[in-house]
Amino acid sequence: MFKINENYLKLPGSYLFSDIAKKVKAFTDANPDNKIIRLGIGDVTLPLAPAVIEALHKATDEMAVKENFKGYAPDLGYEFLRSAIALHDFKARGVDIAIDEIFISDGAKSDSGNIGDIFDVNNKIAVCDPVYPVYVDTNAMSGRTGEYQPDLGKWSNVIYMPCTIENNFAPQLPEETPDIIYLCFPNNPTGSTINKAELQKWVDYANKVGAVIIYDAAYEAYISEADVPHSIYECDGAKTCAIELRSFSKNAGFTGTRLGFTVIPKELKCGEVMVNSLWARRQGTKFNGAPYIIQVAGTAVYSEEGKKQTKEQIAYYMNNAKVIKDGLLDAGYSVSGGVNAPYIWLKTPDKMTSWEFFDYLLNEANVVGTPGSGFGPSGEGYFRLTAFGTYENTLEAIERIKKLGSVTT
Ligand code: PLP
Repeated sequence: MFKINENYLKLPGSYLFSDIAKKVKAFTDANPDNKIIRLGIGDVTLPLAPAVIEALHKATDEMAVKENFKGYAPDLGYEFLRSAIALHDFKARGVDIAIDEIFISDGAKSDSGNIGDIFDVNNKIAVCDPVYPVYVDTNAMSGRTGEYQPDLGKWSNVIYMPCTIENNFAPQLPEETPDIIYLCFPNNPTGSTINKAELQKWVDYANKVGAVIIYDAAYEAYISEADVPHSIYECDGAKTCAIELRSFSKNAGFTGTRLGFTVIPKELKCGEVMVNSLWARRQGTKFNGAPYIIQVAGTAVYSEEGKKQTKEQIAYYMNNAKVIKDGLLDAGYSVSGGVNAPYIWLKTPDKMTSWEFFDYLLNEANVVGTPGSGFGPSGEGYFRLTAFGTYENTLEAIERIKKLGSVTT
């Protein structure tokens, strides 16, 4: 009889967003006339920018012509896209990244999940708590996290780094030494960032203890403050300890179009072994590339028009973030995020748990958000709202929340 990967059986049963969907469905079935406003899931709502659409159309037409038709993409991705990334995302910020250190992919979710393939199962991971669930779940699938402890909401073999109001949602260097450190800034779900000096401490620490940092910069485009680094490679020594993940989902609305990339500098080594070569081998074997037309569309994001249009989209979402943040502050909530990230992280009022507050908002304001406890035990007592809705819905949602009256936190 075949055997399954038993690590999958250790995963806690339900997934946060399906629990939310079930509750929302039960509510709408019982109250079909109520207009629900969803500020829960981190998906964008604006259409692709005109420059991106134009590039998509052009590339699609090329595929219809024998002479221009493209089959499999090169292993690392098309050079035109990797060159644009090296120039606009890195060189423009004073960082030298070679094009063979950039691996084009279908997004940061796959890359953040797959990157574990090239590391030994006995590495110990450290994650922020709360955290984007993919890092922990994918490590659990490969048997790196020990046993799930339902009473604690934690895995036995994971180092959790609490990020709460007490430490301004910035993780402290862990007491126990990890081998792999997941950092995500701007952060999902807390919307927090750390400045360059703070990130430098992590880089120095990783180099000192021989750990690798997996740095998820999926929300880099939302940074508005000058001292917040856009790439971990802005820090000295990061090339010998860090892998960076990027995505076109949130900076250019590619959530349904799928494009991202991973940077692995050649200086990042385990003994004599270049991590870059291992990832090249892994991708060459298990991945056949992002589609040509999508890579062309991604390149258009870096054109003058593309930059201008995507910047406008981000400004639109960040205006929503301001509406949410200001409105909640007016109503007495304790709020963070929403300045360098499209997420607003609020403390639930009047000692409600995250799920109690979810039910309260759904029932009383018909607004859907995400309970903080779904992102990890230190998320209990917090709640996430996203700025990715329409302006009109965002405004209405906040008016409804304010109508519920002032709160104490
Ligand atoms: N990383 C973080 C922190 C995210 O929040 C998300 C999506 O919400 C992703 C990665 C996934 O990005 P992609 O759409 O490129 O797979």
